[in-house]
Amino acid sequence: MLQKKQADFEVEKDVVSTIVQLGMAQYVFTLLNLVVNTKLKDRVIRCIDGRTPGGIHIAPLLEDEWEESVNLAVEFAKKAKAEAITFHLDCGAVKAWLERHKMDTSLENVLKYAEKFAKEVAERLKLTYRLEKISGHAGFHRERAVYYSDVDFDPSTDDRLPTGFFINRKYLLQEHALKELSVALQIATGSHGFGKLFSQEQPFLIIVVAGTEEKQEILREEVQATASIYGKTVRVDGFVMPER
Ligand SMILES: [Zn+2]
Repeated sequence: MLQKKQADFEVEKDVVSTIVQLGMAQYVFTLLNLVVNTKLKDRVIRCIDGRTPGGIHIAPLLEDEWEESVNLAVEFAKKAKAEAITFHLDCGAVKAWLERHKMDTSLENVLKYAEKFAKEVAERLKLTYRLEKISGHAGFHRERAVYYSDVDFDPSTDDRLPTGFFINRKYLLQEHALKELSVALQIATGSHGFGKLFSQEQPFLIIVVAGTEEKQEILREEVQATASIYGKTVRVDGFVMPER
């Protein structure tokens, strides 16, 4: 298992090394057609999980109260002009919520609550909901980064960008976006993620994306306190990407 993890970690080692060496702004400057390649194909809501790429993203059950979490997702969906809602197997955010409520965290029950949540949000908005197939396996996360983004884009459509969680800061309050950031960091650095394989040379990346330099500076400042909990194994970087 550890060998398999190590081998998976190697896959994006060069990309991460280059980013650490050049910095994200300089790195993306070298990527021809990035803006076109990463254009959204739909506005379907998916989890922030790196295994459910594309569209727009919110983690389910961010608040301790069920109803508050539903309200939050409904507001998010309206702001983001969502077209549909999905839920998925092995959702870390749903599992964490069940854990906090001392409830059954089996794969079946996590899926059951993920569906229940998506169904309620969809009904409130009169949208459809469906199961999103995860790319990869239950119980294993290969994210090397989290995109903390004020711009809509899909990093998964360009393999020159690291595999990552996606946070749509644009449609969330700071408080909720930072909660998602904490969830992403806990998963990535825990036993279901690459965990102890992250180092100063091969850090987990928080990639702040904004439409302007000014906004990027503000958002980098915003994630600093959360990032600093993890010391040098988590690195904050970012770049400016025009809105399309
Ligand atoms: Zn999830």
